[in-house]
Amino acid sequence: MKIALMCQNAKLYSHQRLIEAAEARGHTIDVIRTLNCYMNIASRRPEIYFNGESLTGYDAVIPRIGASVTFYGLAVLRQFEMMGVFPLNESVAIGRSRDKLRSMQLLARDGVGLPVTAFAHDAKQAGEVVKLAGGAPVVIKLLEGTQGIGVVLADTERSAKSVIEAFRGANVNILAQEFIKESAGTDIRAIVVGGKVVAAMKRTGEEGEFRSNLHRGGSAKLIKISPEERSTAIRAAKSMGLAVCGVDMLRANHGAVVMEVNSSPGLEGVEKATGLDVAGMIIQHLEKTAKPGATRTKGK
Ligand code: ADP
Ligand code: GLU
Repeated sequence: MKIALMCQNAKLYSHQRLIEAAEARGHTIDVIRTLNCYMNIASRRPEIYFNGESLTGYDAVIPRIGASVTFYGLAVLRQFEMMGVFPLNESVAIGRSRDKLRSMQLLARDGVGLPVTAFAHDAKQAGEVVKLAGGAPVVIKLLEGTQGIGVVLADTERSAKSVIEAFRGANVNILAQEFIKESAGTDIRAIVVGGKVVAAMKRTGEEGEFRSNLHRGGSAKLIKISPEERSTAIRAAKSMGLAVCGVDMLRANHGAVVMEVNSSPGLEGVEKATGLDVAGMIIQHLEKTAKPGATRTKGK
């Protein structure tokens, strides 16, 4: 196959591993810097230009679109889809998962377990929103946050209200969420590839930190997940329509709850914690699925 790897920084561990795995399996893989692409929207034959050349002959595209380039990245990916290039994850599915409210609504609709979550636009509703989320202690999250930045634990209703008011004063959107105390600073990341959980790790935050993000100093370990957790992760991936994703879950007393579904999961933590060749499994999945005409949405 001839594969396009859409990313901004080819040096990142995940991208290096995808390149290695594709080449090891006899494929050609080209790094296409997402923001350097430009395209021709008007013609009937959609094209993407990169380094002065029109991109042709690709069988598949692996989108690794960072949160900050979502808008332009999805436009480039749609263009690939319109050209009939098979995407590892479809643009619409990535779009769903990037919108926290949209994705939680879809997960809820499909009966996937979630922490009790409430949302309002107006900070005047802060008290009500905290109440809807089950009262303090409560987790307040920025809708646009990543890597644990903008996730705050408020111990009392008063502090929750002031956090919400401060965020809203800065004109950012937030949600309030039931605090899953029993997860004790640990979350589970399950990597789903083609409807199967291929690897799972648990991440634990530093002492005294309820956030388990690796970027916040957390550490990752191999974990055996329960059949229920496995099925929750698979259903979450299906609900988003993502062929490959990282599903972040918390172990609540009432079962596994999904926090978010990441369409470009980092591979370093999970490969190092599990010793598994996740990049190789992703490429193998592409070999099975990237057939001409198999792109379902074609950019729609
Ligand atoms: P981000 O998308 O920025 O990583 P998350 O929503 O994943 O933000 O939250 C970051 C971390 O905070 C999680 O990995 C988890 O450890 C902790 N956390 C998030 N939500 C809750 C919650 N409702 N209850 C308990 N811990 C939570
Ligand atoms: N780079 C990813 C994103 O923001 C996050 C990586 C991860 O948490 O796995 O889309």
